[in-house]
Amino acid sequence: MQHEAASGITETQYLRSLLRATRDYTDVADTAERILKLTAEMTRAEGGRVLLFVEPHASVSIGAGESWRVSDDQLATVLGNMLPGMALEPVTFGKNGQRSLQAVVAPIDTERTVGGLALLFRPGRELAGLSDMIEPAVDALRAVAGRARFEANEGRLPLLAAALGALSRPVVVLSSRYDVIYLNHAAEVAFGTVSEQAEGLPLADLPGCAPVAAALADGGLPEEWARQGSERVYAPELTPLENGGYLLALDDITRYKKLDRNHAEFIHVVSHDLRGPMTSAFGFASILESTLEEAGDQPKLHMTRKIMSGITQLVALVENIQDAGRYDPETGFYQMLRVPVHLSDLVESIVAQYLIPPDKHLKLELCCDPDLPLVNVDRVMIERAIINLIDNAVKYSGAEGAIGIGIRADAGRIVISVRDSGIGIAPEDKEKLFKRHTRLRRAEHRKIRGTGLGLFIVRSVAQHHQGDAWVESEEGKGSIFSFAIPLTGDNLPAAQ
Ligand code: ADP
Repeated sequence: MQHEAASGITETQYLRSLLRATRDYTDVADTAERILKLTAEMTRAEGGRVLLFVEPHASVSIGAGESWRVSDDQLATVLGNMLPGMALEPVTFGKNGQRSLQAVVAPIDTERTVGGLALLFRPGRELAGLSDMIEPAVDALRAVAGRARFEANEGRLPLLAAALGALSRPVVVLSSRYDVIYLNHAAEVAFGTVSEQAEGLPLADLPGCAPVAAALADGGLPEEWARQGSERVYAPELTPLENGGYLLALDDITRYKKLDRNHAEFIHVVSHDLRGPMTSAFGFASILESTLEEAGDQPKLHMTRKIMSGITQLVALVENIQDAGRYDPETGFYQMLRVPVHLSDLVESIVAQYLIPPDKHLKLELCCDPDLPLVNVDRVMIERAIINLIDNAVKYSGAEGAIGIGIRADAGRIVISVRDSGIGIAPEDKEKLFKRHTRLRRAEHRKIRGTGLGLFIVRSVAQHHQGDAWVESEEGKGSIFSFAIPLTGDNLPAAQ
């Protein structure tokens, strides 16, 4: 049976009119209003309102007089409580303590709610059977919302694509599930694919991107990314987009990597070549020292010892520069030479040979856990790390006191610590000390020479053994610098 409205239009006429209104779309508000009017007429509603959350936001209402109107807020609240896909909902809107309005509210939804339609009826009016007439209106309004969204986007999308395309930096637009939406031209080159082919693929399926996708799934991002077979190296950066999804931009750091490598190679060659002449100068100065000692020539002996102390300082400096270059986990080219080592023996021999400067009266105290396991480590590296820590403890302590060197087995690792009772370190400085060339600007440090490389070397050595380095300190009371060697993997001697 055909429904017939108050004005006498049939259901067929109604459906045709809805279709025409949608087809003749000119403007979102006008078209929505036409549809609302037709539906109100068909259902004999007293008034109604349509809300469309599109750009520009459309809110149209019809009805005879104030009492037949609901506000955007009232309708939005009801819609907010309705689930997408839910059927028509009879609702009662209270009107400022006066009479209540009986309404039917229908959400207009596709994947997410795009708006709603409310029709208002006299109290007591039978509402059953209205859905057949309201549903086509909801369909028409959904089409209107889609059209509005298309019109809004059409102007912007080509402009955005052109802007991203002109960027020399590779950029990938990703959905909130990390599926590829768009690659700009530079990204097409970087990934060796074209945007059309990549669209819709999970990021992991872009050439070479599996590690990036895996890191994203763990909530991180790799510091560097390079596609196999390509010499370009990129630093990825992820920016969340306001409407969901992400922008993955890649910074080309190939040049910096190359410069870093050249710099490391240069330091390696220069520091290596400097060592030879310095060693022979020290040798000759020692011969001179013994001759002058025999002759009892105190003034010349004093000068010769000054020369020797200067050469020792130079050797220490060159050694640190050399170690910092070759041990650097990123750019170094040091080949580790692991041998089984008793760390307590190693530390004992370091302490026995350590020369405390004559102006300081510091005592080196050794404290090792008994029965420390044998470890398979690079002896030279570990020695250099320990010497650096003792050098610092001596440098940054006063003229008196003790320096404690401890080795303990602790939670599956061996921890080597050097404790001093020197000036200590402020909490905010603790982490940055381990970065290359970091020296604290403190009045007490002004007269103490250094390169800012010692602690960088200590951490690099620990990292080469899969461990780490850290400091515990209280300002004014002293510090404990430590590094750990985990008792796992290559650090264990083969027989164990
Ligand atoms: P350097 O001693 O050559 O400057 P390091 O990397 O060994 O370089 O140390 C970095 C900085 O950390 C030092 O400049 C100093 O400010 C601080 N530091 C290192 N060891 C100690 C210590 N034992 N006590 C106080 N400050 C220290």
